Amino acid sequence: MKNGDIQQQAFRISLMPDGRLTSESLKKQSGGYRYRGEWPDACLKFISFSDGIFTLRNTSNDESYTLHLQVKDNKLFVSCNCGHNKITICKHAYWTLGDIHWKFGEYYFTKLMSHGMMELAFKYPMLFDKQESNCGLNVFPRAELKSIYHLAPAVSMPDIKAILNLPNPSSKAFVPYTLGSSPKAQISREKAMAYLVIISIRYEHLPSVIPVIGQLTVKGNAIKSFDSFLDGLQKTNTIILSTAQKALHEKCLGLYKLTEKLPGELLAGNVFSKRLNILAEIFNDWMEIYSMLHSQHFVFRYVLFGKRELRGKPKRDRWLQVTLSAITPVLSFVVTDKGDHYRFTLRVHIDGVLLDNVKTGMPLFITQNEETIFRLGSLRDACLVEWLDRSDGWITVFKEHFDAFQKEVLVPLEAHYAIQFIGNDFNS
Ligand SMILES: [Zn+2]
Repeated sequence: MKNGDIQQQAFRISLMPDGRLTSESLKKQSGGYRYRGEWPDACLKFISFSDGIFTLRNTSNDESYTLHLQVKDNKLFVSCNCGHNKITICKHAYWTLGDIHWKFGEYYFTKLMSHGMMELAFKYPMLFDKQESNCGLNVFPRAELKSIYHLAPAVSMPDIKAILNLPNPSSKAFVPYTLGSSPKAQISREKAMAYLVIISIRYEHLPSVIPVIGQLTVKGNAIKSFDSFLDGLQKTNTIILSTAQKALHEKCLGLYKLTEKLPGELLAGNVFSKRLNILAEIFNDWMEIYSMLHSQHFVFRYVLFGKRELRGKPKRDRWLQVTLSAITPVLSFVVTDKGDHYRFTLRVHIDGVLLDNVKTGMPLFITQNEETIFRLGSLRDACLVEWLDRSDGWITVFKEHFDAFQKEVLVPLEAHYAIQFIGNDFNS
């Protein structure tokens, strides 16, 4: 097959807008060919992939044909050299597509697109694994590429423009809040008020805060155990020491109720439709609560495995005393030339200094060395941090896709954030 084009002699199958081919669609478009003959125990041997044309040797018993596949303009072109007309599909091709579909799934044909995974796997063999079988050939990106823009993103691409349209109040300075007469919230010689920043496992809910009464050590400077969560949520009003503290507890309870209504990921589903107002409310509540908690002595992070746990006491191995930093992190991005591809990463600066050991798995916040928590300056920052976090830390952009990435991500981002370009491609 020459000239990178088999369309003239091929049967044509339309793919879904995202490149998928469902088995229903395959059956419908190929006219239910299954009734016109069998092609038993077909074995597909990969022959070549060149100029976008994927060639297989298609054998059943002692009959053998050459099958060409090509994906162009969201259509799959199929040609078999048995001499069958191109108006209908021959049985060899029909059963073969069924086998490939069954074995590799409905997204397999997206790999054959121009600048798709098959093309790149042959162009950059060190970055992909190839797997031959009696269904032909499949290719997989190596794990170190992490999330691959356009080809194999770890999470679906967020609407960058909509994220950047979010209000950005990060210029607001952090205002520490003093809790009136009782900054350390000591209730008695044995008890003190503590605040547990709740991080729910598997991102069930966004972080919230539950005040819990802690039992002090003999010296009175540390907490050795906690009363039950419910005491914190419902009963502490009777022992609250100041009106400011009561306000804090009411805020915490309000925040907890809001987070209960939402999934634990900012970008889950469509963030910018109905959930945007409530996300903004959660973010603003957190701004206030964070300022109030900053003056508190006993703040902990707590990993909650499930809501049922709230009926009991906090479990010992899940809490860790933390410091809430008053500094708002500043985000920037880096594009590094890696030769065949670029790597897009996030950087976090604190007072102009690049922060090491940043952890980003806690929505709305980042942490350093587990023990220091920084509140992100805006919902916008938080969405971008979440995107990079769910992308496994960085995004690989093949140079073949860089124009699209630049248009979709870098240009809009550059209007709001610093982007550093490192490497040969950017030295000129
Ligand atoms: Zn045929």
